[in-house]
Amino acid sequence: MRVVLLGLPGAGKGTQGERISKKYGIPHISTGNMIRSIIDSGSELGELVKQYTTAGKLIPDEYVIEMVQQRVAEDDCQKGWILDGFPRTVQQAISLDKSLSDKSIEIDYALEIRISEEEALRRISQRRECSECGMVYNLMHKETAVEGVCDKCGGKLYQRTDDNIETASARLKVYMEQTHPVVHYYAQAGKLISINGERDINEVFAEVDALTAKLLSPGHQGEVL
Ligand SMILES: [Zn+2]
Repeated sequence: MRVVLLGLPGAGKGTQGERISKKYGIPHISTGNMIRSIIDSGSELGELVKQYTTAGKLIPDEYVIEMVQQRVAEDDCQKGWILDGFPRTVQQAISLDKSLSDKSIEIDYALEIRISEEEALRRISQRRECSECGMVYNLMHKETAVEGVCDKCGGKLYQRTDDNIETASARLKVYMEQTHPVVHYYAQAGKLISINGERDINEVFAEVDALTAKLLSPGHQGEVL
C-alpha cells in the first residue's frame, strides 16, 4: 500500500502516519527525517543536500525526488510506504508518479486530513517542544502535569520560533498556494480520500483505518472509496 499524506500544518499528518505505519507494518517516511538520515549517511547526495540545508536554502526538486526514490527502494518499503511532507507541489507529484511508473508501481491513494486555516493556526500556536528530549506537546489536547514542564524528562517546554503566529500564517499561505493544488491533482486522478481532521485523534484514525482496511481487502479493484 502506497500512501501520500496531505493536509495543513497542524492537521495531524505525523500522528496519523505513525499509526498507519504501526498497524500495517509499512514505514512512515517524513521528509524531515529522510533529509536528516541522508545527510547522516555521508553519501554523495547527502553531501549535496547538506550544502543547501546548511545555507538555509530550499533543496532543489531533483535532489528531493532522488532522495524519495532511494528511500522507497529500501528493503523495509517492499510492502509499501507512507509519504509525509512530499509531494509539496504539483510538479513534484507529477515527477513522483513518473518515477514510480518507471518501476511499474503507483500510489494507491492520497489521504487529505482536512482542517480549516483557523484551526491550523490554533493548533500550531498551542504546540510546545521539550528543550531536553524534543517531545512535542499540544496543549489543546493535553496539558502537562506541571505547566511548562515535560512529563517525560522534566525539561523546560518552549515554543519553536516557526510556530509563532506570523511564521505559521506565512507557512499556511505557502501551503495553500503551492501544496493545496496537489489535493486537486490526486482528486483528478481519482485517488483522493479526504477526511475531516477537526475531530478527536482516535476518531480520525478509526476512519483512516476503516478506509485502509477496505482498500486492502481482497477483490478491491482500486477504485476510490
Ligand atoms: Zn522532555
